[in-house]
Amino acid sequence: MRYVIDFSEGSKEQVDLLGGKGANLAEMTKLALPVPTGFTITTRACLDYLQKKEFDSNELNMEIRQHIESMERRTKKKFGAAADPLLVSVRSGSKFSMPGMMDTILNLGLNDETVIGLIQKTGDSRFAYDCYRRLLQMFGDVVCGIDKNRFEEQLDFYKSKNKYVLDTEMQAEDWQKLVAVYKDIFLEVSHQPFPQDPYEQLTLAVEAVFRSWNNRRAITYRRLHNISDSLGTAVNIQEMVFGNFGSKSGTGVAFTRNPATGEKGIFGEFLLNAQGEDVVAGIRTPQPISELELLMPKVYQEFLKLSGLLENHYKDMQDIEFTIENGKLYLLQTRNGKRTAKSAFKVCIQLVEEGIISKKEAIQRINPTMVTQLLHPVFEPECLKEAAIFAKGLPASPGAASGNIYFTAEQAKKASEQGEKVILIRQETSPEDIEGMVVSEAIVTSRGGMTSHAAVVARGMGVCCVAGCEEVYVDEFLEQATADGVTLHQGDPISVDGTTGTIYKGSIPYVQGDEWQVLEIITDWAKEAASIDVKANAETPADIETALKLGAEGIGLARTEHMFFGEERIFEMRKMILAENEESLMAPLNQLKEFQKEDFRTMFTLLKNKSCTIRLLDPPLHEFLPQTEEEIIHLANATKRTKEQINHRIAELHEQNPMLGHRGCRLAITTPQIYEMQVAAIIESAIEVSQHEGNSTIVPEIMIPLIGSQEEMLWLRERLVRTIQEIFDEKEQVIPYKIGTMLEIPRACLTAEKIAEAADFFSFGTNDLTQLTYGFSRDDSVKFIGAYQDKQLLKNDPFQHIDEEGVGMLMKIAVDKIREVDPTIKIGVCGEVGGDPQSIRFLKKIGVDYISCSPYRIPAAILTIAQES
Ligand code: PEP
Ligand code: MG
Repeated sequence: MRYVIDFSEGSKEQVDLLGGKGANLAEMTKLALPVPTGFTITTRACLDYLQKKEFDSNELNMEIRQHIESMERRTKKKFGAAADPLLVSVRSGSKFSMPGMMDTILNLGLNDETVIGLIQKTGDSRFAYDCYRRLLQMFGDVVCGIDKNRFEEQLDFYKSKNKYVLDTEMQAEDWQKLVAVYKDIFLEVSHQPFPQDPYEQLTLAVEAVFRSWNNRRAITYRRLHNISDSLGTAVNIQEMVFGNFGSKSGTGVAFTRNPATGEKGIFGEFLLNAQGEDVVAGIRTPQPISELELLMPKVYQEFLKLSGLLENHYKDMQDIEFTIENGKLYLLQTRNGKRTAKSAFKVCIQLVEEGIISKKEAIQRINPTMVTQLLHPVFEPECLKEAAIFAKGLPASPGAASGNIYFTAEQAKKASEQGEKVILIRQETSPEDIEGMVVSEAIVTSRGGMTSHAAVVARGMGVCCVAGCEEVYVDEFLEQATADGVTLHQGDPISVDGTTGTIYKGSIPYVQGDEWQVLEIITDWAKEAASIDVKANAETPADIETALKLGAEGIGLARTEHMFFGEERIFEMRKMILAENEESLMAPLNQLKEFQKEDFRTMFTLLKNKSCTIRLLDPPLHEFLPQTEEEIIHLANATKRTKEQINHRIAELHEQNPMLGHRGCRLAITTPQIYEMQVAAIIESAIEVSQHEGNSTIVPEIMIPLIGSQEEMLWLRERLVRTIQEIFDEKEQVIPYKIGTMLEIPRACLTAEKIAEAADFFSFGTNDLTQLTYGFSRDDSVKFIGAYQDKQLLKNDPFQHIDEEGVGMLMKIAVDKIREVDPTIKIGVCGEVGGDPQSIRFLKKIGVDYISCSPYRIPAAILTIAQES
């Protein structure tokens, strides 16, 4: 078994074994870039260690020793030697980046002897003792679980005793004294002295990093990002280079393009004379990378060159960590940069325009769920004019949100569980805060830059964030935040604009934001590649316009009942429902027909030549009945009836189980005049628009809901065809049309080949089909589905993600049966799952011709289909 692989042996493809960091360090080594030498302990070693299965610690230690010896030959330094000691960093690195979730130890190899060697080598005892105390602190925390604050408290105490404000005021002897204090803390808490043997340090450190795979914050992060627990982490051992080695040293993080906006050009930050995680942790506020050009022009130019090279090599925006040691640049990490949805779309478009990737590759790179983030909320511009600014900071993650402020993750979580909208405000966040960040509408920090923990994590989650609001004094202990003389307390409302970096007092209403242009470009590319169409579930002019703008190929479901809820219309509807004879039925029906015609004309005009599927009336009639006493009296007066007569009719219409009752096509079996009126309205308006627009290609698709048998379909079809023929005769004009049905009753799926003899097209209504297949009421199942999920009896809510095994199986049977009778007949899906990327992948596989979903879900649906095509 080989547990260890040298950087010079691996490659970027080996992410499973080497983790993302290790694989990319190997790749950069292969490209002969300035990477400090080192090796990776594989994820396999971690998994074996965690399971203690086949794990041989002697073998691992032997391999580690061999690789350290090989590093010693390359660096001409010795691990544990009194003169010029080799020091290493120990960093975790799993397949998927989990920023800050697991542990890191720097300066490993230092002890009471080697620290003297480091002083002799560098001539800088202040630096050497600072490194040693950092090792004690990190090692104590990671390996022995000693609270970091125990060390920090002593540092603060020492500084205040000596009237120092900044760490930079600490001299060599100060750090040396602190090293002794830290060693005492170590002994007191862990009941053992700090290990002086560097190999013992290394073994303990590696095992601690292995274990950190299972710490609480790492587990929470994995749950949140759907990362499997079974991957394990690799551990990278690398020669230390020092960014805290005086004013010609520093450390930083930079993106090759802006991760928030997608703007081209290097974007990042650095800290002079700082080590390791200082930038990411947001403990000091760093300088923008452009300032490096003034301070160290040569290093800056070299960094630009190398970052360009890396971006071209990986063909994607890179997130690069670097360290400058005494004027020499080292690369410590590169990876594809995490970015906002806006940045992801923009970078893809740029890379295609620059010829680096193809359109097809661009489409594959975009996660369809990002579309939601792209259309981020923004504050109502009018309300913003009057809003009072509390403070300003860095626009770390775009969006707009209002909520009540909380100063700890724990309080934020508690308040959110009580149903409050919360905003987490802290000096800086750390990985421990993840549970509070997840529930927050927005995150605000007073320290840290654009690449701080808060900024990176918020962007990843699509949560709006303002970081580095230095003018705000955040007192986490007193639970208050003060800026410019104004103090806010826990529970006070604020509004956060992550796009501009502004924080306002109080709540401000927000509206959905839009990045239509970028979205349009990618959607157009995706449409070229998509093998099936995406249509919209829409009936109002505004929704139809939105749907068309977002890429809909037509309307796949216009629910006509949605057109009956206006004040005037519902009144006619009620009159129709109350009718006791043909005469009193026809007057309101004729009135309703005029309303319907008006709507259909608008629809056909907006859609031009695009397809339009109109579904005839579906819900139980009682949904339209008056609810309040006032409405009942009004209806009684208008129809010259008594209140009692109306109440009597309402009682007559009452059903024990309306979802399974008198609804859908059953309404037309008992009262065919309703569908006849609707069909006449559809056909007449199609003829009128065809004449008016000189457009003869309107082919209305009339869809009958809730069909369960061939007999129902034949009976209704015959009547509707007759009505249509009468119109053609009267108008002396014939237009093409189709009459189809929904597949939303299990029986219809099982007899679909028979129904196909009477239907011109089909559309699966997965909402009702799921309800009837599972026997879960679609209106009431929210009460228990959560419990099913908690008890792992259900993986997903089947109304959100298709139940492939049951409902999906019925659908597959239906598709196969229909195709046997007519291979060309169009079959679509218009239930909720039609807009869900996960379900779309399955629906495409069973061979549907199109899906139809609500307008805002259209771009994600098109993208998903393109990715699967
Ligand atoms: C369905 O049942 O999936 C459907 C689209 O119809 P509705 O939601 O209107 O019942
Ligand atoms: Mg339905």
